[in-house]
Amino acid sequence: MGIVDEDVIRVRESADIVAIVSEYQPLRRVGTGWTGLCPFHPEKSPSFSVNAEKGVYHCFGCGVGGDVIKFVREIEHLDFVGAVEHLAAKTGITLHYTEADQGESRKRRAALVGVVGRAVDWYHERLLTAPDAAKARAYLRSRGFDGDAVREYRLGWAPDAWDELAAALRLPRSVAAAGPSDAQQLAIDAGLVFPNRRSRLTDVFRNRLLFPIFDPQGDAVGFGGRILPGGDGPKYKNSAQNAVYDKSKVLYGLNWAKSAIVVADEVIVCEGYTDVIGFARAGAPRAVATCGTALTDDHVRLLRKFARRVVLAFDADAAGQAAADRFYEWERALDLDVVVADLPPGVDPGELAQRDPERLVASLSGARPFLGFRVERLLGGGSLTSPEGRARVAEAALAAIAEHPSELVRDQYLMEVASRCRVDPERLRARLTNLVASPGASSPSPPAAPARSEAHRDGDPRDAQLLRSRPVARAGSHDSPEAEALRLAIARADEIRPWLGEALFTEEPYLLAYRALVGAPDFWSAVAATDPATGDLLQRLAVEQASADVDDVVNLLLLRAARAALGSLEARVTAVADDPAAVAATLAESARLRLWIEELRSGEPAIETVEQLLGWLATETEVQE
Ligand code: ZN
Repeated sequence: MGIVDEDVIRVRESADIVAIVSEYQPLRRVGTGWTGLCPFHPEKSPSFSVNAEKGVYHCFGCGVGGDVIKFVREIEHLDFVGAVEHLAAKTGITLHYTEADQGESRKRRAALVGVVGRAVDWYHERLLTAPDAAKARAYLRSRGFDGDAVREYRLGWAPDAWDELAAALRLPRSVAAAGPSDAQQLAIDAGLVFPNRRSRLTDVFRNRLLFPIFDPQGDAVGFGGRILPGGDGPKYKNSAQNAVYDKSKVLYGLNWAKSAIVVADEVIVCEGYTDVIGFARAGAPRAVATCGTALTDDHVRLLRKFARRVVLAFDADAAGQAAADRFYEWERALDLDVVVADLPPGVDPGELAQRDPERLVASLSGARPFLGFRVERLLGGGSLTSPEGRARVAEAALAAIAEHPSELVRDQYLMEVASRCRVDPERLRARLTNLVASPGASSPSPPAAPARSEAHRDGDPRDAQLLRSRPVARAGSHDSPEAEALRLAIARADEIRPWLGEALFTEEPYLLAYRALVGAPDFWSAVAATDPATGDLLQRLAVEQASADVDDVVNLLLLRAARAALGSLEARVTAVADDPAAVAATLAESARLRLWIEELRSGEPAIETVEQLLGWLATETEVQE
C-alpha cells in the first residue's frame, strides 16, 4: 500500500522544510539553524527549531519533532500518503503507488475536488464581474463585505440560468441514452449538475450567492448557497452529500482558521457562513460553521485535534436538552471545554461583526461554561422579586444543574442558585439529590434527562481537571559532551567521525544514537533503522546548534574515557595482586594511559596519540565485555 519508497525519499529531499514551516509560522536564522514560535502549541518565546540541511524540526516546548513529512502530517492533519502527496504537489514530483487501487480512489477524489475547484473559480469570477451579479454585490456591500473579503473567501454568484455552469465546464448539455459521459458523471458526482427529466444537464445552484466550502487542506468540496432577500426558495441550499462532501464531517472555514485555532487552543463554532467571516474580520480568525446541520460527534472529534476549548457562538440553549447531554459527554470523553459566547440575545455574530466588532470579540472573553450559561439565563429570565418567583426559578435551575455529570460542578452552581434565589442550600441539595437519583421525576419544563450510571460519574475527568495542569514535555538539558559530539557527528560528520568510537559514549541513549549514525549511510537512514526513541533523539539533536569545537569535544570525551579506564586498571591491579606478571602488565598499561592523559590535558595531543588511545579504548572495552 502507499507510495513507493524512492518517491517518498525524493519528496523528503526536495521539500524545503524552512519554506514549508514558514507558511505557518515565520522562522528566523540563528547560527546555522532556524527558530520561531511553535505552530503546535501556544508560546511567547520561540522554542521551535529547524535544521534545514537535515530537514528536521523539533520543539523544545511541547516535544514535537520529525521530518518535513511528519510536519505536514501534523499541521495539516493528513495521513502519511496525504502528506507526501501534499509535498509532491508543491515540489512537482510525480508519485508512483505500490497498489493501483489506492491510487485510483485518490485520483477520483482529486478529480472531484478539481471540478469543484473549477466551479468555485467560475462562480467567483461571475460575482466579481458579471452584470447580473450586481444585486449580489450590492447585498454583500450592505452587509459590510468589501472586495477583499469576497476574494479571500472566494465568494461566488450562481446566475439565474439553467446550465451556464455546465457550459462553462464544457460539458455536452444532453445526456446520452447509454448514460452520462465520464466528464458529465464527474460533475454530477461532485454535486454541481444533474440530468433533468429530459436528460438535459442542469446546474444545481441557481440565483444564489455561493460560499465555497473547503476541506481542512483547502480542497474545494462543496457550496453553501444563500438566496438574496426577496428571492424564491429556501434561504440556504447546500451541496448534497457526495464522495467529497459529508455535511456531518465538513466544517466551513476550518481551512482558513486552523492555524489560528491551534495557536489560541480555541475554536469558535457558528451556524452561518457570514458569522465565520464576521469573526475573522473582527480579529478572531478562528471560527468555523456547520453546514446546515447541528454539531456532530465527527465535527467535535475533528475540532479536538486542533483545540481544547470550543466556544459556541449561537443560541446553544435553543438546541435543547439533547444538546446539553452531548456537550457534557464531549467534555467528558474528549477532555475539552464547551463554553457559550456571551452574545446579545437574538443577534447573530455576522450582524454584530458589522455593527460592533469590539462587542463581538468581547463575547469570547465573556464566554461561560454551558451550564453556567443556562443557569444564568434561567436566573435572568425569571422574576426574583417574589418568593414564588424565586422558588420557580430555583426549581428550573436545579433541573438544569441535575443534568451535569460532575457532583463538584453541580454543587458550585447549586450554591450560586441558593444565594441568588435566597433559598437554604441544604434544602436545595436534598432536592438536587432527588433529581439526580431519579432524573425528570418532577422537573418542570425541560424533558427528562436520560439516567446516568454511577460508573459514568466516577472518575469524572472534569473533577480531575481541577487538580491537574496540562502536561508539557520538557526536553532534557543535553549539555553532555556526548550530546555535543553527536550534534557534531550529524552536522559535520567528516570532521569528527574519525575521532569518535563507541568507547567514548557512556550514556546508553547516546551510545545507541552513535551506533545508529555510524551504521547508516546518511542521517535519515539512521533514523529509519534505529528504534523510535533513538530516532527521536537524533532528530532533536539535529535541530540543536552544535557550537563547540570538534577538537575540544573529542579531547574532553577521550579524557573522560581515559580516566575511567585508568580507574578500572587500578582496580584490576588489586584483583590480580597474586599474579606478579599480570600486575606488572597492568601497571605498564596504566603508565601508558597516564602519558596519554598528560598529553590530552595539554590540549594539543598528537594525532597518533588520539588514534592509539582510541584503538586501545576499543580493545579495552571488548576485553571488559
Ligand atoms: Zn511546541
